[in-house]
Amino acid sequence: MTGTIARLILAMLILPATGAVFILTFIAFVARSGGPGPPTLAAVAMLWMIVYAFVATYWILLWRTTVKWTASRAWKTALAGLAALAVGAGFAVTATAVNRQVPPAIALLLGGGFVPIIWVLGTVLLWRETASERLARMSKLINAPTILCPVCGYNLTGLREARCPECGGSFTLDELVAAQPQRDEHPAEL
Ligand SMILES: [Zn+2]
Repeated sequence: MTGTIARLILAMLILPATGAVFILTFIAFVARSGGPGPPTLAAVAMLWMIVYAFVATYWILLWRTTVKWTASRAWKTALAGLAALAVGAGFAVTATAVNRQVPPAIALLLGGGFVPIIWVLGTVLLWRETASERLARMSKLINAPTILCPVCGYNLTGLREARCPECGGSFTLDELVAAQPQRDEHPAEL
C-alpha cells in the first residue's frame, strides 16, 4: 500500500473517528449538564472545542508532509477556521432569533457542526498545489527544467512533439513556452 492510498483511507476515516469523539464527549460532558432540562451552553461549547481540536490535529497531521507550507497558506488555513466559526455561530444566533423556543445550547449544538465541515472543505482548496509549485517539484525530481501541458499539467519533458499524450492537446512551441508558470525563486502563493 502506498503512502497516498493510506492517506486517502485515513482521510475517509476522519468521519467515523470524529463521530466517535463527538459521542464520547457528548456522553461525558453534555448529556447530564443541564439536569432534566436542555444542556448548558458551556458544556456544548466545551464539546465543540474538543471536537475541533481533534479534527484540526488529525487533518493537519495527516497532510502536513504533502502540503507546501507557505506563510500565505498557513494564514489562509487559520482564516478559514475563523470564517467557519463565524458561520457556525451565525447559524446558532439566527436559529434562536427566528424561533425563541429553541434553547441556545441546542442551536449551538447544531450550528457547531458546520464548522469542521466548512474548514476541511476549505483546506482542500487552500492546500492544493499551484501550477508553479508543481513545476518546481517536477524540476527538482528530474533535476532539469520541465515543460508541463498547459491543459492538464502532464510533464511533457523529453517528448519530440508538442502534443500531450495524456489529454491529446496539441500546441505550438511558442504557446507551450508562453503557458509555463512563472519560474522564480519564490513560487507564486495562492
Ligand atoms: Zn495534457
